Amino acid sequence: MSQNDGTVTVYIALGGNLGDCRSAFVRARAALAAAGLRITACAPLYRGAAVGGPAGQPDYYNTVIQAATTLTATQLLRLCQKIEHQGGRQRQQRWGARTIDLDILDYAGTVSAAPHLTLPHPRLHQRRFVLQPLCAIAPDWHHPRLKHNAASLLEQLPPQPALALVAQRW
Ligand code: ATP
Ligand code: CA
Ligand code: CA
Repeated sequence: MSQNDGTVTVYIALGGNLGDCRSAFVRARAALAAAGLRITACAPLYRGAAVGGPAGQPDYYNTVIQAATTLTATQLLRLCQKIEHQGGRQRQQRWGARTIDLDILDYAGTVSAAPHLTLPHPRLHQRRFVLQPLCAIAPDWHHPRLKHNAASLLEQLPPQPALALVAQRW
């Protein structure tokens, strides 16, 4: 959505399961703000068992940030990757343990199938660890391709335990 001030609304999912994730998320949020994003909402911090990837991983911490930005989608992706790098992320195995992962869930309702930046994030509607935090701040957020809102996508997931609330604010 474009605002009168020339910014667009974006949703970014944060996840991690190595080291002090809460501090890594706080630093990531500060880095987003330092790059000019106006943080407009932060979901609570949640913890849940790893889904997919190698067996025996530590639990994941997850949250979602809503922000207003003048960056393009590609600039935002580069910024997210820089923040992951600064947060010590190393890519070894697909869906392997990581200090911090930033996924762009939505950029102003854009629909794109580009592999380097698929929008909305191609797996968001299958993931409780994304939809639960997203619903905490934007239950009416509308999936531009699936034509359902976040609350309805969460409801449609197969039954699984809810993520544990770690902190309302972080
Ligand atoms: P998943 O995408 O299933 O959550 P992941 O986050 O572990 O897995 P990464 O290794 O962080 O995957 O990213 C792989 C690639 O995904 C990146 O190189 C990036 O270019 C691409 N990508 C495509 N769409 C997006 C998006 N919406 N947000 C972030 N990265 C994306
Ligand atoms: Ca991810
Ligand atoms: Ca990612």
